[in-house]
Amino acid sequence: MPARIATHAAVAELTRRYNYQPRKSLGQNFLTDPRVAEKIAAAARITPDDCVIEIGPGLGGLTEALSENAAAVLAVEVDKRLIDILKEIFAGNSRVEIIQGDILKMDVGALMLERGWRTAKLAANLPYYITTPVLMSLLESRCPLSVITVMVQKEVATRLCAKPGGKDYGALSLAAAYYADVTLTAIVPRNCFYPRPHVDSAVVTLELTGPKAEPDDEELLFKCVRAAFGQRRKTLLNCLRAREWINKGREELLNIIKGCGFDGDIRGEAISLEGFIRLARKLKD
Ligand code: SAM
Repeated sequence: MPARIATHAAVAELTRRYNYQPRKSLGQNFLTDPRVAEKIAAAARITPDDCVIEIGPGLGGLTEALSENAAAVLAVEVDKRLIDILKEIFAGNSRVEIIQGDILKMDVGALMLERGWRTAKLAANLPYYITTPVLMSLLESRCPLSVITVMVQKEVATRLCAKPGGKDYGALSLAAAYYADVTLTAIVPRNCFYPRPHVDSAVVTLELTGPKAEPDDEELLFKCVRAAFGQRRKTLLNCLRAREWINKGREELLNIIKGCGFDGDIRGEAISLEGFIRLARKLKD
């Protein structure tokens, strides 16, 4: 095993030794800066009691950093070509388990249960092409993860952390805020990867708090969010009126909107999570 996997020299040596070509279609941009791997592990606050699930270990640069402090790391990699390579790299490290599979088709809660893990942390340098579906399915699955720490495209990180009032604020920001307390921990320039991607990345930590509304209000809450951001230039009133599931007339809707403490011409991008929760509750009455 090379001294540090997440370096230019080690990634070059491993790809040459195993005659391995990264695939763009699998979002394969391997970390070549060990300080970034350490930053992700530090942001995840891994302790010797922690079990960690890693999505997409690649050549193991982040896996190595995670396994330095964790009790156990389960790394799920879709690329069959990498499995024997990873098993060889981590042969002497009993804390690391490598399994092959597509994370979007796997039940993370079941993976934890099979290993007797009551809770776990998730960490990943996420492949760009599945960032949003992976995050949404992890958040919605309610499996007992305590913290999700991911490196994603900077633009997605900005959307995840956005607060009301800006162009980055939208359905993704609200979904993240609904399930978690979200922090942007670090910006990572594109030259920290091989092959070099076209955009910079950022590390985001989601501390899972559990849903912030009553279960009964949840479906309507997300219907309102989708309606409000489906056509974000329109007022909330017009967005809601266009939806077939709204069985209220214009005046009644306007009264509900004002009853939430909003101006009649408010747009979705000005409404906080608490505002949407209030709206869903009033629409139900
Ligand atoms: N963790 C490594 C690193 O930081 O150097 C590699 C990160 S690379 C951005 C993304 C990794 O996710 C690749 O190894 C890729 O093969 C893997 N991957 C892509 N789609 C996946 C999926 N659906 N399920 C699991 N792994 C996936």
